[in-house]
Amino acid sequence: MKIIMLGAPGAGKGTRAALMAEHYGIPHISTGDIFRANLKAGTELGLEAKKYMDAGTLVPDDLTVKILLDRVAQKDCQKGYILDGFPRTIHQAEVLEAELEKLNDKIDFAIDVDVSDQIIEERMGGRRVCTKCGATYHVVHAPTKVEGACDKCDGEVILRADDAPETVRYRLKVYHEQTKPLIDFYKKRGILRYVDGSGSLSEALTAVIEALKQG
Ligand code: AMP
Repeated sequence: MKIIMLGAPGAGKGTRAALMAEHYGIPHISTGDIFRANLKAGTELGLEAKKYMDAGTLVPDDLTVKILLDRVAQKDCQKGYILDGFPRTIHQAEVLEAELEKLNDKIDFAIDVDVSDQIIEERMGGRRVCTKCGATYHVVHAPTKVEGACDKCDGEVILRADDAPETVRYRLKVYHEQTKPLIDFYKKRGILRYVDGSGSLSEALTAVIEALKQG
């Protein structure tokens, strides 16, 4: 099963992708996570990607496509995978499609996690992340016990540069211009499904499984 999670930054793609990956027993692949892991490890790729991530723009297609294709070629992806945050441009989608075609393969579903921009701005502006273990919090919905300190490892909990309000607004603009056209791209292929991203997280997995059953 090969699934793509679509939706604006902060729509809840990652949370749903993780639940589905566990349910189907296949890897959850987030290009954002790969970039952040590289940055943490101090690789050239990480430092290059940081310039774009901090500004809220997209990392160039050639770089992104290469890391994604390398990742899906790994052995643990043979049974399928859930892509979270890739593709983000029509070009990325076309390259992925062409590469899969060479292997006589294809994407099974693209799921659009639909949420209004207003909810996203509120969600992301309140999001906090631990610099040490990566645990995520929200100042209103899931606060840390002690302000600024991670409940799990006591690491420093911060507002990520790309979650700053002006960056969030810019990322939404980038999403509408460059990524939203993918909804039509996959609709034309008959594999687009919708889920309501403002729905409760406890029912998120059931909602996705239901959406996949719809023809
Ligand atoms: P995310 O964690 O998915 O929100 O990604 C964080 C940042 O990584 C994005 O704002 C982009 O700068 C970069 N990024 C992640 N995935 C892609 C992609 N498929 N294409 C271009 N840039 C990406």
